[in-house]
Amino acid sequence: MDTKIKAWWLGHSAYRLESPSGKVIYIDPFLSGNPKTPEDQKSPEDVDYILLTHGHEDHVGDTLEIAKKTGCKVVAQVELSHLLKKHGLNEDQRVEFNKGGTIHFDDFSVTLVSANHSSSFGGEYAGEAGGIVVSFEDDICFYHLGDTNIFSDLELYGELYEPHVIAVPIGDYYTMGPQEAAMCCEMIRAKMAVPMHYGTFPVLTGSPEDFKKFTGEYCETDVVIPEPGEQFL
Ligand SMILES: [Zn+2]
Repeated sequence: MDTKIKAWWLGHSAYRLESPSGKVIYIDPFLSGNPKTPEDQKSPEDVDYILLTHGHEDHVGDTLEIAKKTGCKVVAQVELSHLLKKHGLNEDQRVEFNKGGTIHFDDFSVTLVSANHSSSFGGEYAGEAGGIVVSFEDDICFYHLGDTNIFSDLELYGELYEPHVIAVPIGDYYTMGPQEAAMCCEMIRAKMAVPMHYGTFPVLTGSPEDFKKFTGEYCETDVVIPEPGEQFL
């Protein structure tokens, strides 16, 4: 794919992205407690932004520790953002928004969209779960679906944002499984799909091979299956 951005899958729903100007963005940085994240990628030193899809522990992960260590901005839905503040996030690092909202940073913008899931943090209600669309200036659009099942707005998001790369949960049990995820690819029509939220724990049984097989039957989206820690863009 013709792009200047760099992207790594770190296991589960965690991604590291680097913008064309070198800004480092983590999405759902569940790293130190993630059995799939390689040791040398569990505690990043250089982070500019953390983007969160929702409040569950396997997504917020190391956010508060990384924020304290690096001073990065933490971008999250409004209720979750307030809970993170209550748990120690500095006010000047806090960026809150809500669904449909777009925020512009350096050389990219971030939009919060719907996901069909729940959200809590530290036992408290954390608003609604979302997906995150990251549009890089003069470059690709990366859409992280968060935790979700299939829903018909995905087709609209495909039309609206025309994402080049989508990160899709396939593990089943807490999210959709491979076949439903493949139908999402058919609705969104991105060039590339990367499966996530599988294999981390024994209950997450959805297989990336099944996802690739079903997607091949439904549409032309290319399924790329990185190893945890592997760079795929
Ligand atoms: Zn999850």
